[in-house]
Amino acid sequence: MADIIQLLPDSVANQIAAGEVIQRPASVVKELVENAIDAGATQIKVNIKDAGRTLIQIIDNGSGMSDTDARMAFERHSTSKIKSANDIFAIRTMGFRGEALASIAAIADVELRTKEHDHDLGTFIHISGSNIITQEPVSCDNGTNFQIKNLFFNVPARRKFLKSNPAELKHIINEIQRIALANPEISLSLHHNGSAIYELASSNKRVRIVSIFGKNINQSLIPIDTETTLVKISGFIGQPKFARKTFGEQFFFVNKRYMKHPFFHRAIMQAYEKILPPDAIPSYFISFDLDPADIDVNIHPTKTEIKFENESAIWQILQASVREALGKFNIVPSIDFDQAGSVEIPMARHNFDEVAMPEIKVNPNYNPFETQTPAKSYSGAGSSFSSRPAERPNSTNWQSLYKGLEPDFSAKPEDQEEEPVQFRIDEQQTTKSSVQFKNKYILTPVKSGLMVIDQKRAHERILYERLMQVLENNEVASQQQLFPETFELNASDATLLTSILPDLRALGFDIRDFGKNSFIVNGTPGVLNTSSPIEIIESLLEAYKNSPVSLQEKARETVAISLAQASAIPYGHALKPGEISELIDNLFACQTPNFSPKGKKVLSIMPLEDFEKLLK
Ligand code: ADP
Ligand code: MG
Repeated sequence: MADIIQLLPDSVANQIAAGEVIQRPASVVKELVENAIDAGATQIKVNIKDAGRTLIQIIDNGSGMSDTDARMAFERHSTSKIKSANDIFAIRTMGFRGEALASIAAIADVELRTKEHDHDLGTFIHISGSNIITQEPVSCDNGTNFQIKNLFFNVPARRKFLKSNPAELKHIINEIQRIALANPEISLSLHHNGSAIYELASSNKRVRIVSIFGKNINQSLIPIDTETTLVKISGFIGQPKFARKTFGEQFFFVNKRYMKHPFFHRAIMQAYEKILPPDAIPSYFISFDLDPADIDVNIHPTKTEIKFENESAIWQILQASVREALGKFNIVPSIDFDQAGSVEIPMARHNFDEVAMPEIKVNPNYNPFETQTPAKSYSGAGSSFSSRPAERPNSTNWQSLYKGLEPDFSAKPEDQEEEPVQFRIDEQQTTKSSVQFKNKYILTPVKSGLMVIDQKRAHERILYERLMQVLENNEVASQQQLFPETFELNASDATLLTSILPDLRALGFDIRDFGKNSFIVNGTPGVLNTSSPIEIIESLLEAYKNSPVSLQEKARETVAISLAQASAIPYGHALKPGEISELIDNLFACQTPNFSPKGKKVLSIMPLEDFEKLLK
């Protein structure tokens, strides 16, 4: 047989490698801005057109490159940052693999102008799909100016995979935010289609945070500063009372590199335990500085997870510093869940689907067929605030009796074969003898047994169908606010909100963009009857962000689902008897009462025989 193995041409190899490093326009922005930082730039300008599809331009005043280096920079594995494998244990630069420029040049049209500071002339290189088109001397400013045009022109599959412009722009903004927060001394601007998103002057950390997240955050920031032989932890944490319900202001950096670290996130959440309003996530901007040898350097350039040598020790130090900072600033618990006996404790619900798996606890002394005031205590499965042992019914033994009988609330409609069950509800009986249980379920006797309804999912279904009706019939009804409220979002939430504003308007929200990431709410959907529109908008954005991307393409529906989720009565909310029967009536007036808009079961029946078996 003839030999069949051949080496791939560089252009093909680079294109394949590019797939790993450059997933979207934001990856180009990240790589090029990091290169500018590595080149010692103190000023970096980023200009974007059409969310990076048409143009990504990065201008820096860093070292610039010689004409040979400029040409070399586009070769694969060409880097000035390491010389031997050992160097990677001491690496402090952002890049060192020498892959980014080769990758970008393989899948776009790249124009580079660069000049070293002590030279009169610079170099111009035009390279497209790994082919050098031109290289010639040029007169230009000190530093480096990259223009990336027609990204993915030769990789249609990648191009197709790109999301809408607002979504891609949001990724770019997120990258810039991270870099800007990690490097406050560098002056940095971001323009999109000619208008400024950020114009950040060189400053300190606090000012940088404020210029990104708005002046309101300033009063919330508590400095943290701890130096040990292992690590230096510094930055700011937010006061609990300013904590929002949405993610977006949580940042970890290690040696000036942004990282995600769910384990360290938990250290912070624990330090804030009991002093946060329900569902809220505190802001934090925390930098770890440590010997590069103590972190895993074998990290891929696009990866944001970082492995530490002494992870659990750092965890302890982190938690202690956060606790200390909160203590120093006299942040006494504003809501003490252990003492405030009458406080209803809703479940953490920023990720609805994961948390909503109910754990049915049965109180043996509780007779659901007797009309009585709803149970006050609430012990939510998965809630971080659920430890109120004194109030919990002594139900441990009883629970075991129910093993295997719990209705499977987590089942999705596609998981099950059977037709949605039709219920015959004895109306008279229902209205009289439905009760709320654990401030979370409604128990209703039906012919065949006892129906359990999840109150939040039921309400989500009701609101969702009403909102869809508003959309379908084009019958926008907006309830004007007596006192219009203004609010400010961070840049990425602001872009997200702007992109769904038309849908929100169609649903009855009257929100106007005030510029500079601030908005004013003049009216809310009539069907919602809400008094805290800003909270709803924040929860809505969070729900929207957590929706699967496939859904996000059906923007209107997703907005309606997210809005229904955000405004449904939460778990832990006590319902009056009148409200219970209204909820049941409205639920069964729905087209699809059995499932929440996200496909979770709303209700299930415990058959009568099971009760009989129980008492055998
Ligand atoms: P890496 O950053 O991993 O070294 P890159 O492909 O991103 O690899 O860049 C290759 C080389 O090009 C860098 O090592 C650096 O020497 C040079 N370079 C890239 N961008 C700039 C810039 N903005 N200013 C000066 N030199 C640069
Ligand atoms: Mg690089």
